[in-house]
Amino acid sequence: MFVFPPRPEPTPRSADIHLMRAQNTATVARLAWERPEGISRADIGRLSGLSASTVSTIVAQFLESGLLLAGQVTTTQVGRPPRILYFNYDHNHVVGVELGAAHVTVALCDLRGEIRWHRSEEWDVAGDPEGAIARIIDGVEAARRRPEARGRTLPIGLALPCPLDDRNPDQLSPRLFPAWMGVRLAERLHAHFGLRVIADNDANCGAMAEAWAGVGRDGADLVYIKVATGVGAGIIVEQLPFRGADGIAGEVGHTCIDMNGRRCRCGLQGCLEAEIGSSALVDRVREALAAGRPSMLAGVEPLSELEIANAAVAGDEVAREIVSDAGVALGVAVANLLNIINPTKVVIGGRLARAGEVLLAPLRATARARAMWTSLERADIRLSELGPAIIARGAAFHVIRGALIYLDMFDEGTVPVR
Ligand SMILES: [Zn+2]
Repeated sequence: MFVFPPRPEPTPRSADIHLMRAQNTATVARLAWERPEGISRADIGRLSGLSASTVSTIVAQFLESGLLLAGQVTTTQVGRPPRILYFNYDHNHVVGVELGAAHVTVALCDLRGEIRWHRSEEWDVAGDPEGAIARIIDGVEAARRRPEARGRTLPIGLALPCPLDDRNPDQLSPRLFPAWMGVRLAERLHAHFGLRVIADNDANCGAMAEAWAGVGRDGADLVYIKVATGVGAGIIVEQLPFRGADGIAGEVGHTCIDMNGRRCRCGLQGCLEAEIGSSALVDRVREALAAGRPSMLAGVEPLSELEIANAAVAGDEVAREIVSDAGVALGVAVANLLNIINPTKVVIGGRLARAGEVLLAPLRATARARAMWTSLERADIRLSELGPAIIARGAAFHVIRGALIYLDMFDEGTVPVR
């Protein structure tokens, strides 16, 4: 994850007391945020271990700022009935942006991370950085102008279609996106909006969305695999993304599936992505058409994994065969992930996942045949159900999580909507 501009460190002299106060305040905010049904001051005290007077002071601040709302007095208990407090999920709004290789998606979310509005546009992001940045700016402005946008805008959440390089985080991978060489995206967005930008890899954002709003809500360790133009995975361990030393963890698309396979755009040989990424699938369709096989994909332009997935669902034999083979390859990768990480949930998302069972059935069968039974036993392999804006939503979750830790983020948005 990359935050631009970085947050200032607390000054050493006041650090301890400042940090403790900030942690207490954030704890109260988080307890209320986690309970849409409401929470009493007494329960906040019991769950946090904070004294009644500390809870009372913090709650008073939040009621004043409007982050908490006081609800009805409950009458179910003996003695002085507690007033229930509710987190005000409409106090601010968050805009999450997904930058794909060929699209820009913008989602306006409330503080629960529920999508209130979203827009997705096809765009040659890989080949046209300036056009893509213009689409992002236009989308974020459109989101902030929506009637659903309440309060100030929190930092912008940004999902990027490549791993973030710790040494040069504000830049898309020059190897995978050569046209973006030298383009500092977060800096550009910050300069335009005056908002902090919190960026992460797209699969990590998808995994965050699944952890916070999808199959991982029960706290399960999970892997989210995005199968689209490229293939990547986000790994959630104890409700947070596992990144590894250099942020590369989860790059399942660039693990070797065929020692003698095709050369991948990353420079390695036999990568999963070189077998089932968009361009590999499109090549296979073209080969089938050139061999004279009938298919509804003949003449379809532009052709991507999305059209192939849709044709597979519609029963096209060529598309079904290609998607099914992709499912087998993905099943091998999932089996390896099960043995290495042992998650209880594996969620398949991205545009190829729209092929549904055509992809999932061979994937499950292969994973079953190749994973150790102990890692397979409890593993639930399924399709994502969070919809097409899941990645942008996950980017928004990063921001909400940050805001619940650094509460001053709720007051950051300074530049009015143009
Ligand atoms: Zn590769």
